[in-house]
Amino acid sequence: MKGDPRPLLALQAIELEIVRHQELLAENASGQQEIMRQAAAEQQKLLAVEQQMERFRSEVGRHEQALKNHEEAKSKLLKQSATIKKNDEYQVAMAQIAEQDRAISKGEEAVLLAMEQVEKHQKVLDETRSSHDQFKAATAVRIREAQAEHARLEQELGELQTQRTTAATAVEPELLRRYEAVRASRTHSKRLPALVSVDGGVCARCHRQIPNKHCEEARHGEIATCEGCAALLYSEAALQ
Ligand SMILES: [Zn+2]
Repeated sequence: MKGDPRPLLALQAIELEIVRHQELLAENASGQQEIMRQAAAEQQKLLAVEQQMERFRSEVGRHEQALKNHEEAKSKLLKQSATIKKNDEYQVAMAQIAEQDRAISKGEEAVLLAMEQVEKHQKVLDETRSSHDQFKAATAVRIREAQAEHARLEQELGELQTQRTTAATAVEPELLRRYEAVRASRTHSKRLPALVSVDGGVCARCHRQIPNKHCEEARHGEIATCEGCAALLYSEAALQ
């Protein structure tokens, strides 16, 4: 069929731009998801370090309590021993006090070790918190940028869709129908043009050699069809 490919080329340019925008929007959405996933992982990291700190602190508390119990036991034994009259009972009490003393010195050591652990971990916690804060600030910037980009793309997409509607009315209906049939075909990548120039002698869509017959038709203003992929073929030469 004869046909002026120019209005369709204009429509196609808009449609390819629409597809590009849709892809960019999808990339943007998955990019935002990735940012949120990283932020959640960072949060999880901080939480783990904080929980470890809680465990170390409660260990200090546990050792302090044990130490306090031994000290109380000792002072109780001391009070009792003051009232003991019998020598053998006194000896037993002294042995018990010595036992508490050993437990106390062990307990003091345990408290110190546990406190050292807390101190060491405090450094880790401080570093984790500060890098977490930096990450959080950077994340907020990245999300803001991505959202702004998303809004910009959506607005442009809306404008393109309006342009598309207008551009479609300028295309001959039969040509539009053929073009849309190619674009709707299952094998058609929406990223590729459905209307391509034959002037290189090769279909720009499927890269097959175009028979001379079709090139000739196109040069005479026909819109030919690629035998390989059903793309619509036109020639720039016919537009001169
Ligand atoms: Zn082709």
